[in-house]
Amino acid sequence: MLDLNVRLVSILGVLTVIVLVGLTFDYFGKLRRQFRLGLLVAFLGIAAGGLFTFMAVIPDEKFYGPVFSEVKTSRKVVALTFDDGPYPPYTGQILDVLREEQVSATFFVVGKNAEKYPDLVRRIVNEGHQVGNHTYSHMDLLKADSKTIAQEVDRTSAIISDITGKETRLVRPPHGFRDAVVMEMMTKRNLSVVEWSIASRDWTNPGVDEIVNRTLSKIKNGSIILLHDGDGTAQAASREETVAAARRIIDELKNQGYIFVTVSEIVNPEE
Ligand SMILES: [Zn+2]
Repeated sequence: MLDLNVRLVSILGVLTVIVLVGLTFDYFGKLRRQFRLGLLVAFLGIAAGGLFTFMAVIPDEKFYGPVFSEVKTSRKVVALTFDDGPYPPYTGQILDVLREEQVSATFFVVGKNAEKYPDLVRRIVNEGHQVGNHTYSHMDLLKADSKTIAQEVDRTSAIISDITGKETRLVRPPHGFRDAVVMEMMTKRNLSVVEWSIASRDWTNPGVDEIVNRTLSKIKNGSIILLHDGDGTAQAASREETVAAARRIIDELKNQGYIFVTVSEIVNPEE
């Protein structure tokens, strides 16, 4: 775990300078006595940059701080999560499916969308599901400064508690991207960072069969499944495929004996 509280962009900036210096030395024939040290430094700089970035974007990497992508458990439980809503008519259709199937899920809402459709947020909570923070404008937090990150998160937490009367303890950074500073800010706010272990890339609308097969093929106890009832702040793409896939995924997993729980239940079973 990285204790140094620095932004990924700063790390990449320093590494870029190191790479350029290494290449410059090599170009002018310096540091070439036994081997091309300048070139080696440049190469290591590029590799380190790739590694630091990889840790910031891969869902189950804990390098920058603790995240939940799946939970080790002997219980046959899974958590369904839906991102980017509320977004009519799809959020309502997903809620209909969950109600008919009698299962609970977790919705990571975009603050801007929650402001537009507070009734849907209320319905999510009234029907026994959990709400998490997915920032106000679905911004890539790696590109935002600290002040903007705080605003994106705090504004959304306030919107959620205004609408539902409950504080959320869960956050999912857009795209799952985070660095040391993002993680530190979430910890200070007592927000658990929730990633996922199963992504079917439903947001690309690959077809209902694909979404179902990609999800089911990787299922195990404690999986956190990522699906989308929304479409960022654009709210343009159809989520019909996800609605249809969700019903099939639930039916199939029920047949296999799985129980659906909210993220909090899977992360803190005693709560
Ligand atoms: Zn999202």
